Amino acid sequence: MISFNVPEEVWRDYNWQIKNRIKTIGELQRYIRLTEDEVEGIKLTERLYPLAITPYYLSLIDPEDPGDPVRLQAIPRRAEVDEKVQSAGEPDPFREEGEIPGLTHRYPDRVLMSITTFCAVYCRHCMRKRIFSHGERARTKEEIDRMVAYIKEHEEVRDVLISGGEPLSLSNEKIEYILSRLREIKHVEIVRFGTRLPVLAPQRFFDEKLLSILEKYSPIWINTHFNHPKEITELSEEAVDRILRRGIPVNNQTVLLKGVNDNPQTMLELFRKLLRIKVKPQYLFHCDPVKGAVHFRTTVDKGLEIMRYLRGRISGMGIPTYAVDLPGGKGKVPLLPDYVVSRVGNVFTFESFEGDRVEYRIDELT
Ligand code: SF4
Repeated sequence: MISFNVPEEVWRDYNWQIKNRIKTIGELQRYIRLTEDEVEGIKLTERLYPLAITPYYLSLIDPEDPGDPVRLQAIPRRAEVDEKVQSAGEPDPFREEGEIPGLTHRYPDRVLMSITTFCAVYCRHCMRKRIFSHGERARTKEEIDRMVAYIKEHEEVRDVLISGGEPLSLSNEKIEYILSRLREIKHVEIVRFGTRLPVLAPQRFFDEKLLSILEKYSPIWINTHFNHPKEITELSEEAVDRILRRGIPVNNQTVLLKGVNDNPQTMLELFRKLLRIKVKPQYLFHCDPVKGAVHFRTTVDKGLEIMRYLRGRISGMGIPTYAVDLPGGKGKVPLLPDYVVSRVGNVFTFESFEGDRVEYRIDELT
């Protein structure tokens, strides 16, 4: 673990965490002996996919381990700009960019509002890596108003997902403005935030004013993104607890990442720990074919092996839906290991979680 010698009240200050993000090789080398691959990676990605890591997230890294799962998610490597990795992915495989800047309307009842390009940490596997090079910029009031006007005109929209970048990095005033505008629209039933701050800078949720705003515009849901059991710490647990106490449910979306969490035991530990902090593992996403991130992809067989391992070892509540997001904005497809061994007429043979083959008859009357 890397330690920063600052008083506890400073460490618990979100603004300090953001102000002191590590953004250069020189700063990073004060805390960690970088590998050649990382040094070159940081230099080569400087303009395309910049570096930024909060002191808190950096502190989770074991500096002696080049394969540390937090390190792999936070520190660039050469592979990001490798020709093969670049050409195997697309900048925007899900066609998120639409007519109205920042707004994606993929499913009839839901829209996505991307309200900033800023992130506390630039995660190396991010599906929106294309926005890293746009600079750190929040949507203007006019841009937000255009999105809201679109939602108002489309009565089929019941669910608004606010994302980024990091949407809760905006000031409390801006967050309240967006929520109050959305709440003027009768057909908008729920609002969700896609935020990785519980993982990258949980201190944001120690701000009672922010929590009061989120509570005021209920029902609000939070989707967060824990990928490894190491990311569940006392501070992230405290952040989640504070959110839950305001009546805001927290769901988690994990991405299957080669070298980070692509083994069954790690996933089991992650999902057990999430349940312990009262976060529901909702999705396990297969890593998307995003330009600059395909080196994190593993096989669908690996994902299915993990899903098979989980069954019987953790309650159904702790088992997420494993899904691939289809290119071209065609939506998500859930994937399950096949438990049907054979079928003869009305008699099925199923495989139990322990590998037993069990006959199961469906009578005509049922
Ligand atoms: S916080 Fe989310 S949007 Fe930002 S870089 Fe990480 S994964 Fe991407």
